[in-house]
Amino acid sequence: MTSVIERLQGDAPAFSIEFFPPRDEADEAVLWKAVRELEPLDPAYMSITYGAGGSSRDGTIRSIARVATETTLCPMAHLTAVNHSVSELRNVIGWYAAVGVRNILAVRGDPPGDVYGDWVPHPQGLKYAEELVELVRSLGDFCVGVSAFPYGHPRSPDLETDTKYLVRKFRAGADFAIAQLFFEAEDFLRLRDRVAAAGCDAPVLPGIMPLTTLRTLRTTIRLAGVPAPQRLLDRLEPLADDPKAFRAAGIDVVTDLCEKLIAEGVPDLHFYTFNRSKATREVVGRLGLVPARA
Ligand code: FAD
Repeated sequence: MTSVIERLQGDAPAFSIEFFPPRDEADEAVLWKAVRELEPLDPAYMSITYGAGGSSRDGTIRSIARVATETTLCPMAHLTAVNHSVSELRNVIGWYAAVGVRNILAVRGDPPGDVYGDWVPHPQGLKYAEELVELVRSLGDFCVGVSAFPYGHPRSPDLETDTKYLVRKFRAGADFAIAQLFFEAEDFLRLRDRVAAAGCDAPVLPGIMPLTTLRTLRTTIRLAGVPAPQRLLDRLEPLADDPKAFRAAGIDVVTDLCEKLIAEGVPDLHFYTFNRSKATREVVGRLGLVPARA
């Protein structure tokens, strides 16, 4: 099975897709409809996030196993250190390997309930993502990704410290990083420059959310952790009561952002799909990233 890093070796830019685990049967049907619609577009890989609770965690393992066995997609499973002892983490990593998943996005996770609450590691667990990278690496031939933050992680005191710990994750064995959401291409490129200036040549991939609704705009602002540029708010907020016009403008904004990133040589655009395919298909279609036959 090819790894994420192998899938990023081509000359042309690629795109990848992120899903969350389904909560029930109806959710599962929605997810699989989106997967089947995106599969012919040949994304570089598909990932499924890892939640805080048992049933959601089972959902990640079950769904990524299905991706590995029933689709042509390259699967990547997320994993967090939240509420897991090291032996439980070994177990989950073992499950991933057993179902044919060799790509793992190793993130620390946030305190369940209140993401800004105190982070308390499991007494027999891990404190930072760096240790999770080391653990995954020690257990087999995995391709490992980590998260990166264009404006710095909310708990980092400054960008210098933030970059230092990101670089430690690469030194611990991470092959690539996926960036949290951001607004301007330059914001992402400065992160990439910081990593390069620290002597790391591992790919850093931009995270992209199609801005189809006011809700996706608000989610982007929350996850980015900084206020949106006034220019963007002036363009989108007046359209709040006209969903069709908002969607059209939001897709234009995101397509424009992606074009700038491609011009700067990013190897892959990582789309947060919300388990739907339409907006991602539209953007990658406009960017010409889909195979001619699709
Ligand atoms: P870390 O790299 O451990 O960093 C956390 C904080 O500690 C940072 O401020 C960092 O600078 C600091 N730090 C790191 N190492 C050290 C050290 N050695 N000493 C002192 N300080 C240190 N969450 C989920 O629950 N499930 C998911 O599936 C998920 N997927 C994600 C995917 C992407 C692409 C992104 C960007 C985020 C995702 N998250 C997910 C959210 C993520 O878990 C949180 O943002 C979390 O707060 C940070 O995780 P991290 O891996 O970056 O942590």
